[in-house]
Amino acid sequence: MKILDIATKLNQIKDTLPPQVTLVAVSKTKPIADILEAYQAGQRIFGENKIQEMAQKQEALPKDIKWHMIGHLQRNKVKYMAHFVDLIHGVDSMQTLIEINRQAEKHNRVINCLLQARIAQEETKFGLPFDEIAQILKSDDLKSLKNISIVGLMGMSSFTDDLNQIKTEFKSLNTFFTKLKTQNTKLEILSMGMSGDYQLAIECGSNMVRIGSSIFGERNYVTN
Ligand SMILES: *Cc1c(COP(=O)(O)O)cnc(C)c1O
Repeated sequence: MKILDIATKLNQIKDTLPPQVTLVAVSKTKPIADILEAYQAGQRIFGENKIQEMAQKQEALPKDIKWHMIGHLQRNKVKYMAHFVDLIHGVDSMQTLIEINRQAEKHNRVINCLLQARIAQEETKFGLPFDEIAQILKSDDLKSLKNISIVGLMGMSSFTDDLNQIKTEFKSLNTFFTKLKTQNTKLEILSMGMSGDYQLAIECGSNMVRIGSSIFGERNYVTN
């Protein structure tokens, strides 16, 4: 039984967000009806972590929704979202940027991307070390990719209860982002923070939070 409905939880979270912070409602694994409930409460940005699931939902739902891909990317599936995706958060290789550019070109679009930074201690997390991000941003290869635009960075903290560690990780990414911004005016978005740690992420400089379970409830199966 639902205790609070989706619209109520969404509005409670929105009320706590400072004006510069954009909310991505993470609807992965959730049905169309749940997304519509959030949509009717005014939410327009939704995040998914599987390309084909996102594409199916995009077809079924209102066309003014902005779809964000927040999961790890399988390069061979980029083509299924190239015609509509609004922002890709989890880009962590040059090869993936090249493929996004190739597919975006077919649709005559420029696709906005975030580079995913590796800030967590765990081995399992995806993402690029800071020095590789700096290298990509100044590379000639990037300049030749006319159909992508790197507009910011994304990071995920370690899966831990140690708030000090999470804070250290978020702060390190914010410091790096702030430094990069002085050389690259297109960088605007710092995507950090999920249900469990978004308030801390905002304190550490995040301006885009990706919140799923606090809006839609727990997910029924483990994703990734
Ligand atoms: C699932 C997911 C989220 C949302 O997680 P919640 O804890 O449900 O808020 C945010 N970011 C990424 C990359 C995710 O995969």
